[in-house]
Amino acid sequence: ARKFFVGGNFKMNGSVSSIKKIVEGLNAVELPSDVEVVIAPPALYIPLTKELLTNPLVKVAAQNSFPKASGAYTGEIAAPQIKDAGADWVILGHSERRTILKETDEFIAEKTLHALESGLGVILCIGELLEERDTGMTLVVCNRQLDAVIDKVKDWSNIVIAYEPVWAIGTGLAATPEDAQATHSAIRQYLAEKLGEDQAANIRILYGGSVNGKNAPSFSSCPDIDGYLVGGASLKPEFIDIIKSRE
Ligand code: 13P
Repeated sequence: ARKFFVGGNFKMNGSVSSIKKIVEGLNAVELPSDVEVVIAPPALYIPLTKELLTNPLVKVAAQNSFPKASGAYTGEIAAPQIKDAGADWVILGHSERRTILKETDEFIAEKTLHALESGLGVILCIGELLEERDTGMTLVVCNRQLDAVIDKVKDWSNIVIAYEPVWAIGTGLAATPEDAQATHSAIRQYLAEKLGEDQAANIRILYGGSVNGKNAPSFSSCPDIDGYLVGGASLKPEFIDIIKSRE
C-alpha cells in the first residue's frame, strides 16, 4: 500500500520568525500516523527547522540540489550537504526551476540520480504548461519529463512524483479531481510500461497546484492520488487541515 504523502513547499518564502511559527504549529498538533509529512523551507532555514521540530512524523526537504558532491559551483548546494544538515528529501524538477531557471529534463535527471545516490529521497515534479494542456500534450510532456529520469534511474523506490500542472500552480484554479485522477492513472500506466507493474504500483503520485484546506478532501477518493505537494497553503495553518484531509 502506498503511504499518503503531504509535502509543503515553502518556495522562497519565510523568515526565522515565520518558520518558527509554522514548525511550532506542526509540533503542537497530533498528526495522523498514516501520512508522511515533509516540509521544504528555503535551504538556509533547514538547520533551524530541524532544530525546532519535535514532531517525529514530520521530515524536511530541500527545494533543489546540485549534481556534484562538492567543488567550485558557487551558490549551489550539494545533496550530501542537504543530508548533513538533517534533511531526508529534495524537491527536483519544480516547474519554477524548469521555466524560470531554464533547467532541462536532462539536468533534472542528473540531479535526481545524484540525490538518490547521496541518500536523499526525491520529490520529482512534472507537469504541463497551459498551452500544452490546451493542445492535448499533457501526457506527452509528462512522459518526456519522466523518460529523462527513467534513462538514468532504474530503482524508483525513493522517488515520489508530484504531478503539478503549471496552470494550476498559485492560480487558485486546481485541477478537478476527475482530471487529476485521469492524468495520475495515465502516468502510472506509463511507469508500468517502463519500470514494470510492481514498481509502478508502489510509486506515490502527488497532486500539486492550488491545493487548500477546502479542496483537499475532494481528491481523497481518487485511487491514483497518493497525496499533495502544497505551495501557498503550506505556509498557513490550513496546512494541518490538508494533512488531515482524509480523516
Ligand atoms: P500552490 O499550492 O501555491 O499552487 O503551489 C503548488 C506548488 O508549486 C508546490 O510545489
